[in-house]
Amino acid sequence: MSMKERLLQLYKLNHIDKELHELYSLRGDIPAKIEDLEAEKSELDERSAELQEELKEIEAAENNVQTENDTLLIKIEKNDELLRSGAVKSNKEYDALAKEIEDAKTKIKSNEKASKDDNSGRKAAIENEMILINGQLDEINDELDLNSKELEEVSKQTGEEEGELNQQREDILKQINAEDLAYYNRISKVLYGEAIAVVRKGSCLGCYSSIPPQKAIEIRMAEKFYACESCGRILIAEETITA
Ligand SMILES: [Zn+2]
Repeated sequence: MSMKERLLQLYKLNHIDKELHELYSLRGDIPAKIEDLEAEKSELDERSAELQEELKEIEAAENNVQTENDTLLIKIEKNDELLRSGAVKSNKEYDALAKEIEDAKTKIKSNEKASKDDNSGRKAAIENEMILINGQLDEINDELDLNSKELEEVSKQTGEEEGELNQQREDILKQINAEDLAYYNRISKVLYGEAIAVVRKGSCLGCYSSIPPQKAIEIRMAEKFYACESCGRILIAEETITA
């Protein structure tokens, strides 16, 4: 393949890339927005899981207290029955049982108070935060829905064209040698897809700087690649394209 043909292939590739770029730009910031929303969502999901775990721990602690209090209550009832049955003969024994009942009641109360002091504030805070998180999640899900539908709509409109362009791109890539492609990709990356510039009437159409006449002639001959000295784009003479 002649140098001119190699240059023309890169020019065609750049043309396709620019059209593809234009199609992608129709999606605007939707893909980035979706990515942000999903990140936000997973953060909230994580926080929500943490809170639920904490709530479970609190409930387990509360259950423990409840179990202890239930045991104390049974003891109180038993002692109470014993006292009422008249089976207790000595005052000493009677007083001991009565004291046990009193102590158990005190313990139940202090258990309840401690549990309430420890947990009720935190539980309320967790519940409030959960309400907040769920509200935020609802909003995020709505927004995600909206953006996904929008993206789908745009993709539906551009999908066919995009597919064709990608097919053309693949076909042309088969004809470009690896070295030329690497050169093209390097420049394309730096110049946001604008890797090739046409030279018309002694000017680079990429940056509108003028090209010395002698160089313009060499570019027309296209015996090697020439890059624009001011913008770095690969130069192709208009005559080469229209020939
Ligand atoms: Zn230039």
